[in-house]
Amino acid sequence: MDRYISTRGEAGPVSAAEAILKGIAPDGGLFVPSHLPRVDYMPLLNREYGERAGAILPTFLGRPGKEQEAQICSWIDAAYSPARFDSRAVVPLKKLERDLYLLELWHGPTGAFKDIALQLLPYLLTGAVKQEENRGTAPTMAILVATSGDTGKAALEGFCNVPGTRIIVFYPEQGVSEIQKRQMVTQQGTNVAVVGVRGNFDDAQTGVKKIFTDQSTIEVLSRRGYRFSSANSINWGRLAPQIVYYFSAYLDLIRREEIKEGEKINFVVPTGNFGNILAGFYAGRAGLPVNRLICASNTNHVLTDFIQSGTYDRNRPFLRTISPSMDILISSNLERLLFEVSGRQSNRVKQWMEQLAAEGRYHVNRTTFEQIAALFWSGYSTEQETMEAISQVYHRYRYVIDPHTAVAVTVHRKYRQATGDPTKTVILSTASPFKFNASVARALLGEKAATNRSEFELLATLSDHTGWKIPAGLSGLEEKPVRHTTVIDKTEMKKTVLNLLQ
Ligand SMILES: *Cc1c(COP(=O)(O)O)cnc(C)c1O
Repeated sequence: MDRYISTRGEAGPVSAAEAILKGIAPDGGLFVPSHLPRVDYMPLLNREYGERAGAILPTFLGRPGKEQEAQICSWIDAAYSPARFDSRAVVPLKKLERDLYLLELWHGPTGAFKDIALQLLPYLLTGAVKQEENRGTAPTMAILVATSGDTGKAALEGFCNVPGTRIIVFYPEQGVSEIQKRQMVTQQGTNVAVVGVRGNFDDAQTGVKKIFTDQSTIEVLSRRGYRFSSANSINWGRLAPQIVYYFSAYLDLIRREEIKEGEKINFVVPTGNFGNILAGFYAGRAGLPVNRLICASNTNHVLTDFIQSGTYDRNRPFLRTISPSMDILISSNLERLLFEVSGRQSNRVKQWMEQLAAEGRYHVNRTTFEQIAALFWSGYSTEQETMEAISQVYHRYRYVIDPHTAVAVTVHRKYRQATGDPTKTVILSTASPFKFNASVARALLGEKAATNRSEFELLATLSDHTGWKIPAGLSGLEEKPVRHTTVIDKTEMKKTVLNLLQ
């Protein structure tokens, strides 16, 4: 049985179940497997996505026994079933042109790539709590989420009516798009609550973190039979399912005779918290032939600067962009990369993270920087470049992309210009264009077409113009009954949690 250790070296080792239940290590670090597996992927060549996941995922969850492996496979079948994903391929790979492909990660119920992990996480969590507490009765898992938009809805869909769980989502009342808000406040399910907070995302996030570590609240809720857990992207249970689609895209390219077995390829990943691209890094460490991982940022380009210079510096203004799920100045999952490329020197990682907390910046040592520079390339897209990319991709390929994917397309163009690298490349597409339709409609139809129109009206406009079908999870939103109307001050979050979890 593999064990999980902390990037800061002062906690663990623990089982995979405990790593998933805790989310974050007690020393403030992130859990990583003590040994990384090798994935023997060629036998999976002619398999479907679910079967590939069933073979790959258990190797990243502590090599469980045969019985548990069968259980993981049944969870995968449920999570990626046709009722939840509107593509049989789950993650279809589209060819844009010779050497350039696009992996559609947004066919789940909420229209963004977070569904791939968050459809599975509830099973991993409830399975883990049963395993940990197999002597007594398992507590009800209370999942608290602070969201800037996409995570909240994806978590609600994942946990909706899952036995043994309750989920409470806090969103900044003024800080999410019309569609994102309507997706959340119309959520069905007997175990869900959605609460608006008067404040910004940071206020909601800080409030949730405080509740998680508030000893008296933990004790009160424990007496009522609850145990807190988090669904945020630093949880290993969210990272592991994402490793699968890197392998799957590669196998699809071999199967279609676009590449030969063993040929190295590039991936371009629109990045915020560094979770998605980190899964690509771990796929590479597990044997996937990766040439380069190209990290694409928007104008909050703290990661681009880091990958180019070795200095991480969050001391800069926070910009609101049209790719809001990447508006982040602290990329939490980067800590795992630093741990791996520094040669697992937890003392160094701890120092850097302490500097980040105290001064908002740190500089990595030379060998660590060289390791990063050998595998990663990074660039950023301005707002105007992002809009142009949406329009250019549509006119060149009759293909519609959302602003996050457009950031990746722009950075890929810059990469080709800068390096001339002819390696075949997969761009990860992280959201349905309908989810961020106001920007997409403006890019394709001009500023006027989108003025004074609601995002709900624009869904139909965009569909009429492109001939693309509105995804099931986004159509009819305006008519759905609003079920969650509570809006609170940021000082009332703890009280609200205690009231909801009786
Ligand atoms: C969350 C999100 C991202 C960023 O993913 P990370 O794993 O945080 O890097 C990119 N695009 C969309 C649409 C997202 O929802």
